[in-house]
Amino acid sequence: MSETLENLSSETRQFPPPADLAANANVKADAYEEAASNRLAFWAKQAGRLAWSKPWTQILDWSNPPFAKWFVGGELNLAYNCVDRHVEAGLGDRVAIHWEGEPGDTRTVTYAELLKLVSQAANTLTDLGVTAGDRVMIYLPMIPEAAVAMLACARIGATHSVVFGGFSVDALATRIDDADAKVVITADGGYRRGKPSALKPTVDEAVARTDRIEHVLVVRRTGEEVAWTDKDKWWHETVEQASPEHKAQPFDSEHPLFILYTSGTTGKPKGILHTTGGYLTQASYTHHAVFDLKPETDVYWCTADIGWVTGHSYIVYGPLSNGATQVMYEGTPDTPDRGRFWQIVDKYKVSILYTAPTLIRTMMKWGDDIPAKYDLSSLRVLGSVGEPINPEAWIWYREHVGRERTPIVDTWWQTETGAIMISPLPGVTAAKPGSAMTALPGIGADVVDDQAQSVPDGGGGFLVLREPWPSMLRTIWGDDQRFLDTYWSRFGAGAGNGDEWIYFAGDGAKKDEDGALWLLGRVDDVMLVSGHNISTTEVESALVSHPSVAEAAVVGATDPTTGQAIVAFTIPRGNVDTEGEAGEALIKDLRNHVAKTLGPIAKPRQIMLVTELPKTRSGKIMRRLLRDVAENRSLGDVTTLQDSTVMDLISSGLKTAK
Ligand code: ATP
Ligand code: MG
Repeated sequence: MSETLENLSSETRQFPPPADLAANANVKADAYEEAASNRLAFWAKQAGRLAWSKPWTQILDWSNPPFAKWFVGGELNLAYNCVDRHVEAGLGDRVAIHWEGEPGDTRTVTYAELLKLVSQAANTLTDLGVTAGDRVMIYLPMIPEAAVAMLACARIGATHSVVFGGFSVDALATRIDDADAKVVITADGGYRRGKPSALKPTVDEAVARTDRIEHVLVVRRTGEEVAWTDKDKWWHETVEQASPEHKAQPFDSEHPLFILYTSGTTGKPKGILHTTGGYLTQASYTHHAVFDLKPETDVYWCTADIGWVTGHSYIVYGPLSNGATQVMYEGTPDTPDRGRFWQIVDKYKVSILYTAPTLIRTMMKWGDDIPAKYDLSSLRVLGSVGEPINPEAWIWYREHVGRERTPIVDTWWQTETGAIMISPLPGVTAAKPGSAMTALPGIGADVVDDQAQSVPDGGGGFLVLREPWPSMLRTIWGDDQRFLDTYWSRFGAGAGNGDEWIYFAGDGAKKDEDGALWLLGRVDDVMLVSGHNISTTEVESALVSHPSVAEAAVVGATDPTTGQAIVAFTIPRGNVDTEGEAGEALIKDLRNHVAKTLGPIAKPRQIMLVTELPKTRSGKIMRRLLRDVAENRSLGDVTTLQDSTVMDLISSGLKTAK
């Protein structure tokens, strides 16, 4: 039996790039042809955008697949590439970071100041006995020191592992253990939702659980009182007193740069290992190409947390390697009010905004009148990442944020891929709402059936990558076998078929009639209803296309007649009446709406109106928990769940629902 996905929805809207953007774009259509004619030469050219201390002798060594080596023999220093070389080019006065604290305090960090801070931090880490190859944990709020700490590690060749500054003692302690880290860099706390939120107590407990950590470096952010141990040192008494002179040494292209644990949407997080030269090549090139960054004039803002891969590649390494001026914001989007994001865009004249569908849908729920109050005319490119963006959310983003002018780049990638893989190019692609469109130049993405055969246009199946790429993960930290099992054993050589190594990302996708790619969610989430494979994404997008719905999560629950039945959890938009009969009428209307949009096979058996959905800390819907609820099971791993009370609310709601 073929396991290919049904292709239910048809979206016909399409938005070509604005003429002036197309005419002046950093990357034009010929990049695709150039990369297709000689892929390795194309990537070598992009590596040439960086400063290397020693040239490579081989672009790609794929002699021991799936363990890749890129730019073999080359040497470079990443901090030098992100900081020093801009200062040496006379750009020391350019603002690197416009930092906005949640309470409204601000800091402006120029490239010259960044160089000073990174050099000082590198000297301090060296004084603490950190040497190349050691692991350093970073557990910080969104403050400039987070970027400084990462760059300081890169500068001395220490491998950083950033843990989102909201994770529990357990999550931090297991990551410290798994990475075998020697130093933690943290802060007393940060500001969230209008008040200080402590971090240091979590670190104290996590450090006490293992005997690995020798030193804890503590940034003072909130000024709240903290307990002190003999391992602790204040950042302002060490780093800020250290010498600002530090000469960056080059490291091998394959030197380990960071370990980052995945979001945990589908299960236990995996420690993804990235290395140096290939990673920076692709992070830097994609940031230049996908956002069309003009470092002299643009103000770029990525709203992700530095604890996610998006923060690594598109707050730290990509933008800084390109000499960007960017905004960094510490807090939540609704503090002090729901206009905070738009107020920041207005204040700093942000021209490129990169955010997540979860935020866009939240803004839809809050209402169109909020962004309408602000001057957003500086925006020229909008980006989305993290989950499939529903076509209606895409349209809302373009209309209410982009004011019908800006291209939207829906970027598909993963912690594992290190950088963007599939995305429109803002000056080239006529984008379709909800589609990530095509693989970037130099990337070999495909959709295949269960026999690893490319599906024809109009078909659905498994998203795979057929060619190694520069910023690919090198392994799962300390577990080569899990690396092979997780990504390489479903298709191709790793599955014992042929000699082509095929990376399986875990996501389902389809190719439309024009060959554009549509991400259809995790294959683990695909529902099998009366013999039809239906994607959660398509049903969710159909629900979100109803004017009363802001957000939806759909799961397949065991059903005696259809095998699985569709159960939907739906958040209505802010102004919608859901009490009593109005709620029941809405549910009926929604079931019919889905049937009408996608066909009767996709009609949900059950729809629940809820106020929140279970999400990971990075804002992705955790469907596996909803499936547990829908099937009356106890919940799986909840360590990366954002708010555990959400599940209680949903469970009790489900019990009382008919
Ligand atoms: P885990 O692997 O631990 O379950 P995760 O997959 O959520 O967690 P990330 O690496 O942060 O961890 O997320 C990558 C995944 O996010 C992709 O595999 C895909 O499912 C989803 N994703 C990211 N960007 C997009 C996008 N533009 N469109 C559709 N899906 C996306
Ligand atoms: Mg994943």
